[in-house]
Amino acid sequence: MVLGVLFAVMRASTPLLAGLQGQVRYYLTTDLDLRGATQQVFSSGLREQIARGWRVFPELWDRLTGRDDQELDDDVSFAMPVEGTVTSGFGYRPDPITGEVTFHTGIDIGATEGTPVVAALAGTVTNVAEDDAYGKYLEIDHGQGIVTLYAHARDILVSVGDPVSQGQTVALVGMTGRATTTHCHFEVVVSGQPVDPLQMKGLSDSQ
Ligand SMILES: [Zn+2]
Repeated sequence: MVLGVLFAVMRASTPLLAGLQGQVRYYLTTDLDLRGATQQVFSSGLREQIARGWRVFPELWDRLTGRDDQELDDDVSFAMPVEGTVTSGFGYRPDPITGEVTFHTGIDIGATEGTPVVAALAGTVTNVAEDDAYGKYLEIDHGQGIVTLYAHARDILVSVGDPVSQGQTVALVGMTGRATTTHCHFEVVVSGQPVDPLQMKGLSDSQ
């Protein structure tokens, strides 16, 4: 993973990435703990570099930082979809399977198989599907441009068109699709952009 990151950074040629490259070199030459070096770069350094260099691309900046500054109604307060532990946050991370750094569009909540997955807000089920990545998943439309997605389920308990209330059980935790543990991958999409669920009202204090 470290070499992959380094290689990707070395190949890049934009001013931002040149800065990043310098930073990676700095860590590598002054600190031989490679693991610590990359973690440090990707936890704080990357965001700061992007803040400075890529502010000209506001959409990308928002996406990278999870800061969309979306104006949601005050009464929109999310419920945590699964009682469990957040094992992986929103944003760049080493892929749990390949180790490559990729953008994680949601959060992972670890829980034992069969744990209820509940609707984070009231809404209408708009998609129930299965694919290689998400496994069995569903999407709920909550209006105001807000959609939530719940993936890797063992079972889906609702159908397209069903109205659901906040807290209603819609699925059971599993590890279908691209998953190495039983967990729920939970996404919040606002106006078509994935945002950090843990920045949403009602969830922001559950980290
Ligand atoms: Zn995930």
